[in-house]
Amino acid sequence: MSALEDLYREIILDHYRSPRNRGELETPPAHRVEGFNPLCGDEVVLYLQLGDDGSIDLRVGGQGCSISQSSASMMSAAVKGCTPGQARQLIKRFKSMMSIHESALGSGDGRDGADGRPGAEWSGDGGLDDGDAAGRDLSDLGELAALQGVVKFPVRIKCATLSWNALAQGLDELSC
Ligand code: ZN
Repeated sequence: MSALEDLYREIILDHYRSPRNRGELETPPAHRVEGFNPLCGDEVVLYLQLGDDGSIDLRVGGQGCSISQSSASMMSAAVKGCTPGQARQLIKRFKSMMSIHESALGSGDGRDGADGRPGAEWSGDGGLDDGDAAGRDLSDLGELAALQGVVKFPVRIKCATLSWNALAQGLDELSC
């Protein structure tokens, strides 16, 4: 258990120290989206652009706590090169992982949480019943699974979901 938590902490710190896709894209053609988390003072600025092949290119700016900035870095690495449809799937998966406590906070937009049963992530949908929550249904999330420990600290969930909400907003505004 502690070995896995150490690994997760290393992944988070690595993305915080060496953020991926940091910078800006020229607007236009890129679309700029800002996210702000007043609970913690985190800021995320996304520059989104679709390539000729329909894949996402993006850069990340902003500042804030290690959770918000490492989550933004991981998000950028995960969705770069994806289609908007694939990115939306990933947003849904990530927010599902984070929604257990976010919904309990009574905040959030509820859009992505509405179709998710509370606790579904942990209830053995994947057919695993070994009691190791870390191994459940998260394998397709790769490094993003490192952020699952954040759900233990509900006040930090907004930090982790900030960049993902900004991405969802950006995709909406791009109508894709
Ligand atoms: Zn934060």
